Amino acid sequence: MPSEPAEVVILGAGISGCALAYHLEKRQVGPVVVYDPHTPAAGASGRAAGIVTEQLWNEWDVEVARATKREFADLARRHDPSAYSANGFARWTRDPDVEAAIDRAEERFRGWGVEVERLDHTALARRVPQGRFDDVRAALFSGRDGVVTPSAMTEIYAASAREMGTDLWLGTPLDSVRAEGGRWELTSGGRTVRASRLVVAAGAWSKRILERLGHPLPLCPYRTQAALLRPAEPEADTLPSVHDIDHDVYVRPESNGRILAGDGTEHVEADPETFRPGGDESFVAHVAECFEKRFPAWASADLVRAWAGVCASTPDRRPLVGPVPRAEGLFVMAGFNGFGVMRAGGVAQRLARVLGAGEGSSVEREALAPVLPSRFTGPVRSFLPRPGFTLEPGDDPRF
Ligand SMILES: Cc1cc2nc3c(=O)[nH]c(=O)nc-3n(C[C@H](O)[C@H](O)[C@H](O)COP(=O)(O)OP(=O)(O)OC[C@H]3O[C@@H](n4cnc5c(N)ncnc54)[C@H](O)[C@@H]3O)c2cc1C
Repeated sequence: MPSEPAEVVILGAGISGCALAYHLEKRQVGPVVVYDPHTPAAGASGRAAGIVTEQLWNEWDVEVARATKREFADLARRHDPSAYSANGFARWTRDPDVEAAIDRAEERFRGWGVEVERLDHTALARRVPQGRFDDVRAALFSGRDGVVTPSAMTEIYAASAREMGTDLWLGTPLDSVRAEGGRWELTSGGRTVRASRLVVAAGAWSKRILERLGHPLPLCPYRTQAALLRPAEPEADTLPSVHDIDHDVYVRPESNGRILAGDGTEHVEADPETFRPGGDESFVAHVAECFEKRFPAWASADLVRAWAGVCASTPDRRPLVGPVPRAEGLFVMAGFNGFGVMRAGGVAQRLARVLGAGEGSSVEREALAPVLPSRFTGPVRSFLPRPGFTLEPGDDPRF
């Protein structure tokens, strides 16, 4: 069977791969093929909480999250208004050491143009009337943050890319992917596509794919959990997303008066092929403990379901985006350390610009400098995942 030509093949139809296809089509870089053995959002993107915040670790991340927010708001307005809303994001602590970290974070955020408000426990209780905050020492609130339904946004990217010409090649197992005569050749279900560029955007599966291609990168898949709950009194969808730093539990409003709570991150390597997809009892118990202390009205909430997904971490908690060193035409967009939804649009915009400009152009450095895979040199060493909704790795006394 003859092979079909393409300019870019993207491995993975999660929010990363679909957002990248959308931006490549907008730039008329193509033909684009997105291959996934499953369906769009079958991986972490279909299991994520969808909190989108600018309370991040460095300026590059903030710029990318801000671009993503603008794009989510615009796409939701045009395609599905329920997919995104700006509800704000509040986080707090009662720990004096973490209060000092909040002080430093606030200063950094302001320097990066992030609009944050410092709240005492009374002001926090006004913003989040459901909570009991008498012992809280410090809180930060960013009113322009939002929540997205990650599966809905992935579908919007996929459908929009398809409308502009992207070939979504879904649902057949991968037979082979390899470099052949200066091109990347992908075969699945009796069909072969040969492309100039291959982008690995396969979330937690990216580690193994890159290893098999002979170009390993420092990625470590790990399991993280969330739970959907129904409080006795339906919650307003204007509830801000919140993060109790001390319990390390976050909550966002969900449809029909429900709430979604998460973290339950495991700091060990997981296998995306064999991980346990259900939520652990210990995770659900931990959420209940946090609610008893902070949100008594939610302590009796019914558990609708709890689940787990697999994300990919990197040694420095920054993603890996751009050309893979010493591999012509091979690119990566992975390693989001549990924050890939809120970065997807902004990162895809930048990577599409790089792919449009061609390898080695100055656009690459300008758009992707802090996240280029070439920052890791030498042999790939194993490491343990260290993700989490921390203020800053060096500042959090738990690390
Ligand atoms: C419980 C939970 C809560 C989260 N909360 C948030 C949050 O609030 N905010 C946030 O920003 N992020 C959050 N995340 C993280 C976020 O889900 C991920 O960072 C993001 O979805 C990664 O998207 P992706 O497209 O890179 O990967 P994925 O969505 O994992 O997609 C990878 C795709 O690759 C496919 N694939 C597998 N093997 C192959 C192959 N051989 N070839 C091609 N494709 C393949 C899979 O089928 C899958 O569809 C959360 C994650 C979880 C699990």
